[in-house]
Amino acid sequence: MENMKRELFGMPLPQMQTAFAELGLKKFRAKQVYDWLYQKSVFDFDRMSNLSKGERELLRQTFSLLPAEVKTVRRLDSADGLTQKILLELPDGNAIETVLMHHDYGYSVCVSSQAGCDMHCAFCASGLNGAVRNLTAAEILTQVYVFNAALFPEGQRVSRVVVMGSGEPMLNFDAVFEALQFLHQPEGANISYRNMTVSTCGIIPGIEKMKALGLPISLAVSLHAVRTELRNELMPVNKGYPFADVIAAAEAYARAGGRQVTYEYILLAGKNDSDTDAELLAEYLRFKQASVNLIPVNPVPEKGFFRPDRKRIEKFLSILQKRRIHATVRKEMGKDINAACGQLRASYKAKL
Ligand code: SAH
Repeated sequence: MENMKRELFGMPLPQMQTAFAELGLKKFRAKQVYDWLYQKSVFDFDRMSNLSKGERELLRQTFSLLPAEVKTVRRLDSADGLTQKILLELPDGNAIETVLMHHDYGYSVCVSSQAGCDMHCAFCASGLNGAVRNLTAAEILTQVYVFNAALFPEGQRVSRVVVMGSGEPMLNFDAVFEALQFLHQPEGANISYRNMTVSTCGIIPGIEKMKALGLPISLAVSLHAVRTELRNELMPVNKGYPFADVIAAAEAYARAGGRQVTYEYILLAGKNDSDTDAELLAEYLRFKQASVNLIPVNPVPEKGFFRPDRKRIEKFLSILQKRRIHATVRKEMGKDINAACGQLRASYKAKL
């Protein structure tokens, strides 16, 4: 019976007003429920104290609220207390990872866009187990709101969202951007577009669609290699969308919105971390509205991926900087809890 109910979470207010009217409820009830959901992060109709008992009962029978149905099946806290990673089990049994990070400027959440991933990047754990399915907008929003609910008593809420968890957001374009637009609403999570980042492995039509949307959302591109053979090997997506074309599409996005693109570059010892790689990278990004985020890989020993030593990382960085490419080494958070894509999910699935 449960799955006969209509999902209310993530429904835009005008639709909610119509749905409430169809039930014979007063129109202003929709706004009240909306505030409980998105201002107070309350996902239990019975706790919505300004509704009558009868109204609460009617809503409970008619609608489901996804955040109340997901289960946190694992939770890991980093030793420094700044990063929390949870594994959420969806009603259909799929598990997805979400990470909360406490920065000095506020809280940011890294959401997954798909359960699993189909991109088969050699160094990534996201696609290791389980079939891939797109997440719905409600499932993406829920990842933010489970943390909002936990932060609410402290008077805090999430102020930044990065779509950098498991999955390829450009292959689930509609749901991802619907969720981000929902989070943007002042009466929703009130998160500014500038505080949202979508990271892609380089699906060019997605970058073009994002440009057409015209919202000031930040774009990140997972580059990781600038030699065709190596990138084909590390990221098979390169065979369909060669990286030079990806950079051109990303640059067009940057120019249209006046915003820099962040190029993520995982450093893999002995693979893509040579001086020549750094010089090539600088060559490709020269005069572009670009910054490079160097990420010492979260090692995947079974696949032969290791971190370069500190000296190598610094040399790579200095080559970029000498060539006037804006570059930083990613501040690492939660390494002790394996916050790399898909690692928690993979270990959970492996146990089932
Ligand atoms: N599909 C999107 C978003 C998910 S991956 C994309 O490719 O951008 C988010 C980031 O984590 C990507 O840059 C990805 O390459 C990186 N990543 C995956 N596995 C990693 C690992 N073992 N160590 C460090 N970063 C990793």
